[in-house]
Amino acid sequence: MGRKQVYLTFDDGPTPQVTDFVLNQLNQHQVKATFFCVGKNIASEPQIFANILNEKHHIGNHTQNHLNGWKTSCSSYIADILKCTDTMNLQGYLPENKPLFRPPYGKITREQIKALKDQYRIVMWSILAYDWMPHKSQYYCLNTILSHLKNGAIIALHDSHKAAPNITKTLPLMLPAIKDKGYDFALL
Ligand SMILES: [Zn+2]
Repeated sequence: MGRKQVYLTFDDGPTPQVTDFVLNQLNQHQVKATFFCVGKNIASEPQIFANILNEKHHIGNHTQNHLNGWKTSCSSYIADILKCTDTMNLQGYLPENKPLFRPPYGKITREQIKALKDQYRIVMWSILAYDWMPHKSQYYCLNTILSHLKNGAIIALHDSHKAAPNITKTLPLMLPAIKDKGYDFALL
């Protein structure tokens, strides 16, 4: 049997310093990840977005304005996703046959799923480390991830300012620890 696989994902960037830190760590440990980017952050940080692309990570759509699907009409929601796609394309992302989409907060209605599922691959997660919560420690994040690992797991972290205190400490330990447990990092 071959090695097991996990998928590492980062939501909410690109974010100055934080995404740079993540890219540097991934590079050091030779790991590829998927970044679910917010369109307005791509527009304000095009160079960081270009760095993600240049380093051959995978990009997913996370709406232009980080909308909550439960609080947004279907047509406004779809329009915001298309706007994010336009922003991505404008900044050098090559359109894919079925691009990835992750709903912010995991909140999406059935109607929205129905409207999107033929054109986008909707990707949720299986491990959430609550890295953005200030009262959760780096050890909590690391233990949560390591204790829930299984073949095919999708780990959701955040390259955001809120998550920075946790991920800057967790990531350098987490990447080698996951490899030591016999997993390879695969791209979604
Ligand atoms: Zn998000």
